Amino acid sequence: MVGHITLADGRTIEVDCLSCALTSGLITPTGGVIYETDHFHVHQDVAYPIRGLVIVASKRHFYGMDELSVEEQMEYISLIHKIRHEQRILLGIDHVYYFYNEDTTHHFHLWMVPRYEWMKEFGNSVESLRPALLHARNHMNDEENMESVLEGITILRDGLRN
Ligand SMILES: [Zn+2]
Repeated sequence: MVGHITLADGRTIEVDCLSCALTSGLITPTGGVIYETDHFHVHQDVAYPIRGLVIVASKRHFYGMDELSVEEQMEYISLIHKIRHEQRILLGIDHVYYFYNEDTTHHFHLWMVPRYEWMKEFGNSVESLRPALLHARNHMNDEENMESVLEGITILRDGLRN
């Protein structure tokens, strides 16, 4: 599937798969790469300015959980565990919502969405996820929050690399 991506500098590029473009380094995510392993790439989609929100994308292009190689399976769970630990210790995040769907236009990627007090107005569990993300995109795009999001990226990056 071909998509058009508008970069932060205004350029529009055509990519077959956004996740391939990100994990191969063709596109640098805003805030930069948080962490990389042999098989996975960790970054934040700042289109949803939520401090500590992390996307874990595979470097290989596939869609299904049952397509992970044994090596990828091992790396995946220990990577998520490591990120979750840093979110808790360094950013004080008590709960995380995990979201992943196989019929995506991107390839295999997991969202790790911190659960904040303000999200409770959108309900609990899966029904609150999309409204909370949209609320962040439409109403939290101010300079102060963006600074906090970028700081969160830096804190996680430092934590994961140490
Ligand atoms: Zn891909």
